[in-house]
Amino acid sequence: MGLSVVGVDRMAKHIARKDLRKLGDERVGILVQLSREAVKEGYNDRARRYVELARAICGKAQTEMPRDFRYCRKCLLPLVPGINCKVRLTGSKIVSECGCGTVWRMPYLKEQRK
Ligand SMILES: [Zn+2]
Repeated sequence: MGLSVVGVDRMAKHIARKDLRKLGDERVGILVQLSREAVKEGYNDRARRYVELARAICGKAQTEMPRDFRYCRKCLLPLVPGINCKVRLTGSKIVSECGCGTVWRMPYLKEQRK
């Protein structure tokens, strides 16, 4: 599969790239949703496959994972609080712990900034 099938001139390539990204975003969005559902149903292997696919598409389509989608960088499972992820607030930090034992500490972002 390549871009060569869609056209050879510069304009065609430009459009193809834009379409590719749009298509990538859509696919990634679907995969992210599916992986969350898989975790909720207890299918971790399947969930991990979806995350792997989504990441592969991100690389190819030069797009990014949705901002609100969080997954463990170690075991590649989507983090679903209450299922495979514990979330605590300590002072000014959010502490998340994945089921595999990986822990993150993130500064608590204040949404309402004026
Ligand atoms: Zn993990």
